[in-house]
Amino acid sequence: MFRYRLHPSAAQEAVLRDHCAHARFVWNLAVEQHLHWHQGRRSAPGYLEQCRQLTAARAEIRWLAAGSQMVQQQALRDFAQAMAAFFDPQNPAGRPSWRKAGRDEGFRVVAIKVGQVRRLSRHVGEVKVPKVGWVRFRWSRAVPPGVKSYRVTMDRAGRWHVAFAAIPEPIPAPGNGKVVGIDRGVAVSASLSTGELLRVPGLTAAERRRMRRLERMLARARRGSNRRSRVRLALARLRARQTDRRKDWVEKASTDLARRFDIVRVENLNLKGMTRSARGTVGAPGRNVRQKAGLNREIMRSGWGLLVRRLEDKAPGRVEKINPAFTSQRCSACGHVDAKSRESQARFACTACGFACHADVNAAKNIAAGHAVTARGGDGVARPVNREPQLLPQSA
Ligand SMILES: [Zn+2]
Repeated sequence: MFRYRLHPSAAQEAVLRDHCAHARFVWNLAVEQHLHWHQGRRSAPGYLEQCRQLTAARAEIRWLAAGSQMVQQQALRDFAQAMAAFFDPQNPAGRPSWRKAGRDEGFRVVAIKVGQVRRLSRHVGEVKVPKVGWVRFRWSRAVPPGVKSYRVTMDRAGRWHVAFAAIPEPIPAPGNGKVVGIDRGVAVSASLSTGELLRVPGLTAAERRRMRRLERMLARARRGSNRRSRVRLALARLRARQTDRRKDWVEKASTDLARRFDIVRVENLNLKGMTRSARGTVGAPGRNVRQKAGLNREIMRSGWGLLVRRLEDKAPGRVEKINPAFTSQRCSACGHVDAKSRESQARFACTACGFACHADVNAAKNIAAGHAVTARGGDGVARPVNREPQLLPQSA
């Protein structure tokens, strides 16, 4: 994703906000239809049927008809894709839910043609938006040639962005025969079999203090007051900064890994299962729901899913998914499997050969070796531990 800061004029911003409102309206209609389907009524309409309904709605609702049909249709297509992702077991996406004003502001434009994105000067580019015309953006890096679609968003801090969808060029394998394993953790974002520990840069200690202070101020501020909206804006800016850093990190880390190693091995974790297990079902309510909800936020925050998707884009055919069983209990030096070797969350010490190292690096080495390990020997002690990383106290 190639993302740029968009600088619409005041008049353009008004139309952009309308596009966002239309896209949100159409999306929420689709959500509502599918909720009825969920309750066991007749099957919910698919994309084509929804497009016909949209045409009918535009004939009746002037507010909708004044907007761009393409923007509105695309919201339906996005919804169809979100539903497909929801039904894909490999995908961590949840069920598409309601979009709220001020929180999920954005729309997509597709089928853009050559010449609809252009550079004006060293730091200024412009993009053609339906019913708006040319909107300027900060040309912070080259827009890749041949982009076909873009998404315009407004974050909670009121900043506009345009993101051009372009699958990054595959990075050629270095041809050095090197294999790396990545263990994806929580406190440390990723551990490599080389012993490197990669951390997603979050907020600094000072920024976190400021966030806590703002959160307290927000709790005290009166609803609807000016002070409250100022505090909310400041909080939104801090959160946006955190997100920007995470996305930036994922791009850099995935490029670096694709350049340095021929093969990248990761665990075949069922992210969807992990991120949804907490609540449980009515018959079997989840345990430690609160802690797990915190853990799930951490998983999303650390950006694992995004990292693997980027790796697959940049190193197509060079990313291998490995069975995660026993990677945390197996000694990467001698192969002995014993739950007791995992001394703590952070430390691995083999009960057979005495090999000791950072527990996540040991796991990463097993992932690099690509062992689909099964329990052996008659002691019956070794069982796959729950591979969900435990939530660690927040460290600086
Ligand atoms: Zn050992």
